[in-house]
Amino acid sequence: MKLLFDGEGKVNYDKIAKNTTVKDVLDAIDIFLNNNPLDCNGCEESCCKKSWSVEMDNVCVNKLSKWDNEAASNFVQEKLVKKRNYYRDFDQYVLDKKTDCNFITETNLCTIYEERPVICRLYICSARSYRYNVIRELIGSTYLKALVLEEKIRKNDFPEQTIDKYKRNPAVFAKEYDILLEEIFDYAEDEGWLYSDERDELYEEIPLNL
Ligand code: SF4
Ligand code: SF4
Repeated sequence: MKLLFDGEGKVNYDKIAKNTTVKDVLDAIDIFLNNNPLDCNGCEESCCKKSWSVEMDNVCVNKLSKWDNEAASNFVQEKLVKKRNYYRDFDQYVLDKKTDCNFITETNLCTIYEERPVICRLYICSARSYRYNVIRELIGSTYLKALVLEEKIRKNDFPEQTIDKYKRNPAVFAKEYDILLEEIFDYAEDEGWLYSDERDELYEEIPLNL
């Protein structure tokens, strides 16, 4: 998978395969941004200092909590608030903040850069193609919902059956951003987030302008 500008000048990708993982997407973004660097130093309106929500996912919270369940729960209680995701119809967690992200310094450095949320990793502040946005949103929603489900499991003594139901989300208790897009699409279809014809379009190989 490679990210490039398409014929409309939008960020797009050439192709994905059945074995493409979230990590492949994140690596492709890093390469794309290395080749097409953003002017973050000269940016007057840092995206990390806006009033919009910073959505938190399970892998990020677990990494910041050093994989300690109690610390992760405390992090959720103390640093996050619930916010309705009306588009996907679930309550997700976002950073409890007003404007600036709690992790940005005066000089625009992210203090948790290596462990930053997946939604920050997937962000590219250029015009993006529809299908790049679909993939970005489905990856984000799956990991965001995984945090909600993990937190419920941590807080309740659920029967095995309920836990198995929650684990239909492939990111629940994932250690990394390395699950298959295919698993995310399966889950998204189950949740009614993705239709099979839309899914086929995500796999179409398209010629891109170099
Ligand atoms: S990524 Fe954020 S800080 Fe960098 S140029 Fe874009 S908006 Fe500005
Ligand atoms: S976590 Fe880091 S990259 Fe994400 S909004 Fe905060 S400062 Fe920016």
